[in-house]
Amino acid sequence: MSSTEHLKSLDYSVLQQCMHCGLCLPTCPTYDATKVERNSPRGRIALMRAIADDRLEPSRAFADEMYFCLGCLACMTACPAGVNYAELFEHARAEAEQSGVLASPRRNLIRSFTLRWLFMDLRRLQLAGYALRLYQQLGIQTLVRRSGILNLLPKRLRELEAMTPEIQPSFSSDLIAPVTPAIGVKKYRVAMLAGCAQDLIFSDINRDTVEVLVRNGCEVVTPRDQVCCGSLHAHNGEWELAQQLARKQIDQFPPDQFDAIITNAGGCGSHLKHYHKLLGDDPVYRESAKLWDQKVKDIHEWLMEIGLQSPVDNQPLQTVTYHESCHLCHGQKIVLQPRQLLRAIPNLKLVELPESAWCCGSAGIYNIVQPKMANELALRKIKHIESTGASVVATGNPGCLLQIINSATQKGLKLRVVHPITLLAEAYQQGD
Ligand code: SF4
Ligand code: SF4
Repeated sequence: MSSTEHLKSLDYSVLQQCMHCGLCLPTCPTYDATKVERNSPRGRIALMRAIADDRLEPSRAFADEMYFCLGCLACMTACPAGVNYAELFEHARAEAEQSGVLASPRRNLIRSFTLRWLFMDLRRLQLAGYALRLYQQLGIQTLVRRSGILNLLPKRLRELEAMTPEIQPSFSSDLIAPVTPAIGVKKYRVAMLAGCAQDLIFSDINRDTVEVLVRNGCEVVTPRDQVCCGSLHAHNGEWELAQQLARKQIDQFPPDQFDAIITNAGGCGSHLKHYHKLLGDDPVYRESAKLWDQKVKDIHEWLMEIGLQSPVDNQPLQTVTYHESCHLCHGQKIVLQPRQLLRAIPNLKLVELPESAWCCGSAGIYNIVQPKMANELALRKIKHIESTGASVVATGNPGCLLQIINSATQKGLKLRVVHPITLLAEAYQQGD
């Protein structure tokens, strides 16, 4: 597909599929908040179709609507007609970007710096991570926060500063060897994607993932200089950049050389499994993209597929609840496996979270660009977490982890927020 065509050049059957039944409406967080048809999946699809039919020009109102959508894909789970909202959503945002209706010097500068520069080469992102880590480790951040100087900033900047994640003392390349041999008999050879922001903020989860994989008979290949998967770009209308990154990923991890390509981030996995959609028109990459899509596995999915080694039965008692990342449950339909993994840990009591599959408001960079709606969703999530009485929340996506950590901290809640894989790695270590 050419970069100058989006909604108009989509296969019309995708746009036509919506039969306006409205069954998706109660599952849509933005419609639930406003009860305005335009803010629902059905309303958004009608707008997209009007543009594809040339009945409407992309306008500021259209673009704002596409960015008010969380992209949580709850509507896809609810839809009986199988509407591919994920595909529509990405093309609609690309259409909005291409039309330029949102352009402003400030926005263009931010997008150029982040999407077109910082996240196109992870060495740059790591450098930014080193600088931020130094700022935090030297205590400058604490000093700045205590000094009251931040009160001079506008409210929105103060809120953003409070959301700054804690940078890990070591990144994945310091913690994980490029090749980690399987413990015992080697049954599989897998690649592990370290992620972009995940590597700076949750490199410990990457280390735990490798540990769990090698204990389950996998040799793990984790090269040092990896690239971003491109989900951030695809979800923010940068279709061509997403294609460039997909090609780089395939070059770095030729899918015919691995039994599986593992991701531990729900949001990335949902995008990584659709490279063929991105590269279907590329004669060089088309076939390998197809194979790539088959080889990409979420960590929970892969472990359940190969049969998980049970940890020994000497674990401490813990009560855990599970929040479902939207792109893990709605995007990838991985619902049972994380729960099965948690239940495999002896003495872990899993308490179901009410509305576990309702978005927490993180949604990529949604909590940065749509703070009001994101905050409402975070508070709703925290209220449900509190109702379970669990002291640990497990979730399989870095964005959700951060969103819940920040909301719990704001509320002064004593809550441990972890990736399920960390709990499993700890359980294995407990048995050593
Ligand atoms: S992706 Fe989420 S927010 Fe957007 S229309 Fe679907 S359910 Fe609503
Ligand atoms: S459930 Fe599916 S078919 Fe029905 S209105 Fe929503 S998107 Fe359209």
